[in-house]
Amino acid sequence: MKLKLHWQILIAMAIGVFVGLMFQNAVFGGTDGWFYHLIISLGTIFVRLLKMVIVPLIFTSIVSGVSGIGDGKSLGRLGAKTFFYYLTTSLFAIIVGLTLTNLLHPGVGVELGATSTFDSSQLQKPGSPAEILIRMIPLNPIKAMSSGDMLGVIFFAIFLGVAITKIKSAHRDFVRNIFSSLFEAIMKLTEIVIKFAPLGVLGLITKAVATSGFDLFAAVGKYMLTIATGLSIHLFIVLPILFFLFTRINPIHHFKAIATAMATAFSTSSSNATLPVTMRCVEENAGVSNKISSFVLPMGATVNMDGTALYECAGVLFISQVLGIELSVSQQFLVVLTALLASIGAAGIPSAGLVMIFIVTQAVGFNDADVALIIGTMLAVDRPLDMFRTMVNITSDSIGTAIIAKSEGENLYSK
Ligand code: ASP
Repeated sequence: MKLKLHWQILIAMAIGVFVGLMFQNAVFGGTDGWFYHLIISLGTIFVRLLKMVIVPLIFTSIVSGVSGIGDGKSLGRLGAKTFFYYLTTSLFAIIVGLTLTNLLHPGVGVELGATSTFDSSQLQKPGSPAEILIRMIPLNPIKAMSSGDMLGVIFFAIFLGVAITKIKSAHRDFVRNIFSSLFEAIMKLTEIVIKFAPLGVLGLITKAVATSGFDLFAAVGKYMLTIATGLSIHLFIVLPILFFLFTRINPIHHFKAIATAMATAFSTSSSNATLPVTMRCVEENAGVSNKISSFVLPMGATVNMDGTALYECAGVLFISQVLGIELSVSQQFLVVLTALLASIGAAGIPSAGLVMIFIVTQAVGFNDADVALIIGTMLAVDRPLDMFRTMVNITSDSIGTAIIAKSEGENLYSK
């Protein structure tokens, strides 16, 4: 019997941890030998294949999905549900982060001066939230595609999809058919790429383990534990409860359907790179229509980041505790709001959430230089947290898609 793909991936992860530890202790030769490079290139190839698919996939899927929704009223309803879901779940996640950090005080008494040898000028600071919104409109859609500007591509694709619904039926059907056929072809391509996932995951996990400095983890162990606990609460308690409340379906079915996407998010630390896998899992395994998944998922990959939102809030409170600054209730409220904006603005790529923390620390008036020193240490231990929050991010996107599909009367998980 052939092992299911998500089992293959789990086994690959376990082997990756083992092999990574071997390399860290130079059992198979160090991280500069040919064997190490051979294994980690499997991960690099996998990520490149996924990235290759992203832009054509988002573009064809959104245009065919949105133009298939038909009238403006359905589109408006879908949009309203989607944004309501994005906002509420991100806020829930932030509240979990806020509560835990206030209870556990991970930053109190942490001395980071000695551990950080970080050049803060290397950090690229994010723009303001208003700028992020305006930048959604691409100056040139082709350039947005070639530079991988996700929000720009999404904006143009939705607009084009809407415009297609408004042209003469002969043209409309013709263009729609072209896009849906292209979309089918890209989905097939994705299916083939995903077969490579176990090998790719092996390479990615091996690299993550082999290059991690476990010593530093101990210094900020409580911080890491706080974030990991918060993410687990959101992933295994809050989201499944929401899912059950709105669909009356056992959440296990959903987790099974998206296991491959969760594993890919965990090993790539990138919601964008995982998007092709998420779309495939949600459509093929959960049975959501392309109309809904193509609307909710691509935008969700950049806009809806529950794990990142939780992290922004908990991270800033951690920084304030390390600096010994007591935040007032109104400042904490400001943290909640800006954490939400920062999570919306963060790109779906590795460590994007960490840099966005500046938006929040600036809002509460922390000094950039002090903050950068602490962020330097946070960056050094960020990989495992990033893997975890990316997994939470895409799980929330997929649960939202299922909830919205169910509310639109779709029949899910029947396969
Ligand atoms: N890596 C995350 C993602 O792609 C973003 C983050 O750094 O929080 O979803």
